[in-house]
Amino acid sequence: MSGRNRSGDHISKDEFSVRDVRKDDISKDGAGQAAKGAAKRTAKKEPKRGGKGNAAGRMWTAVWMLLCAVLLIQIWGLSQRIEALKERMDRLAQIAARQQDRLEELAEAPAARRADGQDGGSGEGPAGEAARTGTAQVSGQGVAGDRGSGQSGEKAGPGGRASGSGEPEAAHKVYLTFDDGPSANTEEILDILDRYGVKATFFVVGREGSQAEESLRRIVEEGHTLGMHSYTHDYDQIYESVESFAEDFERARDYLCEVTGVESRIYRFPGGSSNAVSHIDMRRFAEYLDSQDIRFFDWNISSGDGGSFLVPVEMLIENCTATIKDHGTSVVLMHDGAAKTTTLEALPEIIETIQAMEDTALLPITDETSVVQHIQWESGSQEASGSDR
Ligand SMILES: [Zn+2]
Repeated sequence: MSGRNRSGDHISKDEFSVRDVRKDDISKDGAGQAAKGAAKRTAKKEPKRGGKGNAAGRMWTAVWMLLCAVLLIQIWGLSQRIEALKERMDRLAQIAARQQDRLEELAEAPAARRADGQDGGSGEGPAGEAARTGTAQVSGQGVAGDRGSGQSGEKAGPGGRASGSGEPEAAHKVYLTFDDGPSANTEEILDILDRYGVKATFFVVGREGSQAEESLRRIVEEGHTLGMHSYTHDYDQIYESVESFAEDFERARDYLCEVTGVESRIYRFPGGSSNAVSHIDMRRFAEYLDSQDIRFFDWNISSGDGGSFLVPVEMLIENCTATIKDHGTSVVLMHDGAAKTTTLEALPEIIETIQAMEDTALLPITDETSVVQHIQWESGSQEASGSDR
């Protein structure tokens, strides 16, 4: 039993040792396997580290692509906004043209306007667009004659002024007029007029300097009519009183005479005679001009280029030519200003369109030209003809 026990012990010891060895082996094997597993894992992990690099690269690519996409979206958004702004500009130009038309309609319908108790006038620029003060005495005398209702609209010059040469006969006489020059555009306007053999009228301001003087001389030398448009074009100063108006007028007349040798005989009020800026009755300035043997001209067609934004070329052409057939005398208001680039662009086609019209002549304003005036007033040399006193 004991032997058995011992042997059993032995056996058991052996068994134990064998078991230990096996355990060791097993544990060693386990360790080996663990090591192998670790190695495998590290082996597996290594390519994973390389994958991390690729992933970073892919991430950067994705970020770049995302940035590009964001940029593209932003560019697209901006172009959409530019388109929208362009459309808005066009709409504004259309609104401005419609308002201009409405103002001209008002100027052409004095009776209706008086009945409505409204005050009218068409501003030629930002100042003219100022809120109406109700002081301008607008009667639309100027264009009444166009509709065959009498001679009040297109009055021949006061007696003794006619030179006798006479204007060419035409059912429709068109006078292109350019305000506010000379400017950086004057030379090009003159070139275009020359190219088409057209004479026009320039209502200029007192701009000094050799370039301006050169342009003034060229206007006269090439047979265009030189008109005055004040010296300073400063509404507040000019319309402060008849005295300050007279002072500015004399300065303009003397300056132009000094530069060109020509004494101008026509005048255009800054803002027109129907301007809503002057707090003094415009008839008083009209009377003053009459006392100086000066005739003033407003307009009955406006290009619409007097505002602060650029009017599209097509619209300028339409504005300048659409209603010529309705008038015997068309005085077309345009501006000679460095910023008025579309006016310059539109001019050739405006001229071509008018030249293609039947029985229509493009002329410079002369002593024979019937006046187009927005206000009704009384002149010492004019017949008083039913004007409202
Ligand atoms: Zn002006």
